[in-house]
Amino acid sequence: MYKLSESRRDFLKKITTLGVMGTTAYLRSSASMAAPSGTLATRLQGKVVSRDDTAYETWRQAMVWQKAKANRYPDLIVQARSEADIIEAVNYAREHTLKIAIRSSGHNAAGTSLRNGGMLLDISHLRDFKIDAEKKLAHVQPALWCEQLVYEAGKYGLSFPAAHCPSVALGGYVLGGSVGWNHAAWGGAATHSIRAMDVITADGEKVRASATENPDLYWAGRGAGPGFFGVVTKLELELYPAPKNIISSMYIHPLNGLATVTETLENLLKLKDERVEILLLFMHNPQAPKDLPEEEAKICFVGVNAFAESEQQAKQMLRPFAESELSSKSVFKVEYQPSNFSKLYHPENVDSGYGRYGVDTEWTNDLSASLHAVADHFKKTPSIRTHIVAAPAMNTQLHDDACFSRIGDHFIGTYLLWDDEKDDDSNYAWLDETNRILAPFSEGHYVNETAGDRFPQRYQDCYSPKNWQGLEQVRKKYDPQKVFHSFLGND
Ligand SMILES: Cc1cc2nc3c(=O)[nH]c(=O)nc-3n(C[C@H](O)[C@H](O)[C@H](O)COP(=O)(O)OP(=O)(O)OC[C@H]3O[C@@H](n4cnc5c(N)ncnc54)[C@H](O)[C@@H]3O)c2cc1C
Repeated sequence: MYKLSESRRDFLKKITTLGVMGTTAYLRSSASMAAPSGTLATRLQGKVVSRDDTAYETWRQAMVWQKAKANRYPDLIVQARSEADIIEAVNYAREHTLKIAIRSSGHNAAGTSLRNGGMLLDISHLRDFKIDAEKKLAHVQPALWCEQLVYEAGKYGLSFPAAHCPSVALGGYVLGGSVGWNHAAWGGAATHSIRAMDVITADGEKVRASATENPDLYWAGRGAGPGFFGVVTKLELELYPAPKNIISSMYIHPLNGLATVTETLENLLKLKDERVEILLLFMHNPQAPKDLPEEEAKICFVGVNAFAESEQQAKQMLRPFAESELSSKSVFKVEYQPSNFSKLYHPENVDSGYGRYGVDTEWTNDLSASLHAVADHFKKTPSIRTHIVAAPAMNTQLHDDACFSRIGDHFIGTYLLWDDEKDDDSNYAWLDETNRILAPFSEGHYVNETAGDRFPQRYQDCYSPKNWQGLEQVRKKYDPQKVFHSFLGND
């Protein structure tokens, strides 16, 4: 638990034990200890919370969506209410040598917006939007939630490959790559659907980045995610014709019957329409009797959604699944269920996903081998809430005008979920073993969902070597004084 007095004592001790050079460096990195944050508060519509504020710890904890709050302590938390607030905050931070970290909705599992020292700039109130139906564009502020964009665009018969969780903000999501609903048919990773963005740069200037304006900044914004060096205040996103019909089927197999699932899927993937999205989960059967041995309670769930023009077309897209062993050998199935985005966002009887949370991901070109390699290990999860999610058949397009540069045919995400802090070590150890097992099949990781808090090198492994270097060059151009934090652990 954070105690101000201890921190101050520690600060004074460090000053007296460091040499002159070290003292200067420490003072620079802890500038806010002396920074008159009060003067900033008078210039903002929003809120400024410093470390000696009694509400500091409540604010700090609220910055991270999940329950496990990293032990990192920004010197100032600034909650902006407007773009003008953001410009004031960036100028203030630069003048007082407070390194900036940005938060849209705080969903990043590694807690990338929570850093030691500096300013945490919370822009979660910037949620305005405008839909330009004629041009099929959404103009959104970055803290708008994914579900709201889908809902608002839907009013005009349009949609967006938004995140599968309703409350994830578009900011961190689209900047980092993004695997969303119906992604394969809608341009692949949603970062490719950014058409332009307004960015407040390190010198407090507002610049527009697009394919024709500051194209290097545009390139960096499309994929840098938690390593981006500017505050994105507006996103111009391409919208797509919404499906008129969404129909879903689901199949459950015992995990011991995985071979049937993978063999069938390998064949179905060859025929699959790109508007069919499959999500395969390794999970604990919530209906398993309590006395059933853990490993027998593990199941493989396959959900299939068809995003179609008509009911008939959707059913046609799902028929190969219904006619396969995925259906005939399942222990439970529900087929051809009418659905919509509201149902997809709020499924019944599904774990809300809220708790202590850790995640890591792999792009792979060998789905079956990866899943078989990790299946036995999954039977030993320390928490029955943990699950592995595979999204087969990604749209693997990469673009020269986006730094997003790692993808594989399939996505595998390991989502740790548990409740009690005393179980942290066993859960992280299990995740690390999962990563070790999956490593031989990995083409890299997804920057928005990787355990960079414990393994900072993983951020580099989210990019091609060329784009990782390119990103550092563009960073130097737009943020030479390092006003913004880089990737967690890579500062
Ligand atoms: C329950 C849940 C479900 C999820 N589902 C999906 C999913 O379906 N598909 C998917 O791809 N991902 C998904 N994610 C992962 C999600 O994309 C990342 O967690 C992402 O970082 C969240 O964005 P955020 O803005 O909320 O994060 P924050 O924690 O607020 O920010 C993360 C980082 O993004 C950067 N950032 C955020 N906003 C800005 C901005 N305006 N300007 C500049 N930099 C900014 C900052 O560096 C910040 O450190 C999910 C996460 C959770 C917790």
